[in-house]
Amino acid sequence: MNGDFENFKEQVRSTADMVEIISGYVPLKKKGQNYWGCCPFHGEKTPSFSVNPGKSMFYCFGCHEGGDIFKFIMKIENCSFMDALKLLAGRYGIPIPEKQKTAAEIAREKQRDSIYSANELASKFFQACLTKTAYGEPALAYLAGRGIGKEIIAGFGIGYALNNFTALVSSLAKRGCQPQVLEAAGLAARGRDGYYDKFRNRVIIPIRDARGRIVGFGGRVLDNSTPKYLNTAETQWFNKRRLLFGLDIALKAIRKSGRAVVVEGYMDAISLHAAGFDNVVASMGTAFSQEQAKLLQRLADEVIFCYDSDSAGRKASVRAVSIAREAGLKVRIAGVPDGKDPDEYVRQHGSAAFAQVLAAAQNGIDFQIDETILQNNIANLAGKVEAVSNILPFLLECQNEIEASEHIRRLAQRLTIDEGLIAEEYRKAARRGGRQQTGQPTVIPEEKSAGIGQQAEELLLRLLLEQPQLCDECRAEVKETGFEDAVLAQLFDRLCELGTAYTTDKLNNVLDDASQTALARILAHQLPEGDMDKLMQDCLRQMRRLRLEKEYEKHRLLADEYERSADERFLSELMESQRIKNEIKKLYGNQNK
Ligand SMILES: [Zn+2]
Repeated sequence: MNGDFENFKEQVRSTADMVEIISGYVPLKKKGQNYWGCCPFHGEKTPSFSVNPGKSMFYCFGCHEGGDIFKFIMKIENCSFMDALKLLAGRYGIPIPEKQKTAAEIAREKQRDSIYSANELASKFFQACLTKTAYGEPALAYLAGRGIGKEIIAGFGIGYALNNFTALVSSLAKRGCQPQVLEAAGLAARGRDGYYDKFRNRVIIPIRDARGRIVGFGGRVLDNSTPKYLNTAETQWFNKRRLLFGLDIALKAIRKSGRAVVVEGYMDAISLHAAGFDNVVASMGTAFSQEQAKLLQRLADEVIFCYDSDSAGRKASVRAVSIAREAGLKVRIAGVPDGKDPDEYVRQHGSAAFAQVLAAAQNGIDFQIDETILQNNIANLAGKVEAVSNILPFLLECQNEIEASEHIRRLAQRLTIDEGLIAEEYRKAARRGGRQQTGQPTVIPEEKSAGIGQQAEELLLRLLLEQPQLCDECRAEVKETGFEDAVLAQLFDRLCELGTAYTTDKLNNVLDDASQTALARILAHQLPEGDMDKLMQDCLRQMRRLRLEKEYEKHRLLADEYERSADERFLSELMESQRIKNEIKKLYGNQNK
């Protein structure tokens, strides 16, 4: 089974034409050996996204995204590895090896598929009721009153459930959809006189997963009757924690802007889309979940929460900040003025005003601190101490010490408490392990720009990836000089191990994430023309020279230091630095021969 699967994976990988596949998403142009285009993962106007057709790897010099064809599909389709594999297999007509499924699994899948298709049929029926019958007119008028026109109705597939107990059940029965299936889908229930419709006289909003499949429905009344909202009951098929309303529609805009706006309800999301904000999704309730954070983290860097500004909404925002930050997202909170919800606000004040609200969104931690201070009476010392201890967990979630200390400084000013005291409490809490729990690294390593040393190391690897038989030749030399960059060193070691038997795929399989990205980046470099052997020697010499220059600098500094303090060791350091200098000269001498 496992072997079958590996073969299948390799068959898909070798069949898929990377340039052809990626061209389906962004136009590519050949320049040198590689193809170039504007990166689909970050907004840009000049191409920094490159595809190496021979090695089937992509790399973006702007956002440093890179990898093989599967990684590309996973990123752009926001799907799992298995889904990417299936998508490519389907595209090239490669049969997917069937796993032996248990009878229960088969039955479950069958039921799931029947529910999806029942939902699809029901949605079409609701849409027809809204747009093609006289019964739908009041609902259309209601929607128009909320600024929701034809385009948005069609885009979200909004419909209307008739004020009738059997309209859906009987209409779908005629299309071969059994009422038992509608019951399982949460669209019908069984009463004394048979099955009846659960949604009646409501505007109907289909709720889709990220792949656009309808998994449930929301229904809103047209007047003030209750319940105002009725949703499909939670089932194993419909789990709100794992869904974000509108994600299927907002996907592209979120990816492009790198930012998502999260609101509470689907009506908020729909109104904002109607007002031109196309990166809005709804968490359907205020309990923003880790699963939802993960959905967004794959698409965006930043999330702006715009929950209702009542106290429930504000409390939920405080929690949401922590959850989103833990998933690695930057977080801001947009406060809608006058206690309104976003839907109401945008209808009353217009798009420009709402854009202002988003632009003025507050940093997540600042919001958490403000809210906590509001909850405590900071007029007296006990209240201040309480506030500090409630704020500490938020500070521990900071990305790094610098950020935390900035917040500590401002908090101290605000509470008129000594900064050192808060800092001490913070350190104590950090020692107790608060920081580790958040799973955040203490300091995020800086993205470094490629220095001359790294350039030489990358060029050497670029050559070796083209001509792996040269590995043996430079192995001894590299062993002595070493790679300065640990990620590149790993890449070199793995490449040497595979030797001439290497393929990009085999190599990728034995690399960690950082080295995989480095591999993609290196393959995006143009392969220089000329004598490979000579180029390799040039790289090695360059690496050696830089290593020696560093050594020289170290000994020279030591010599200076000893001389200043009249330490006699200065002489030996001086001699050592002179010896290194000669060695560097010799390197140049060789080159001139
Ligand atoms: Zn990019």
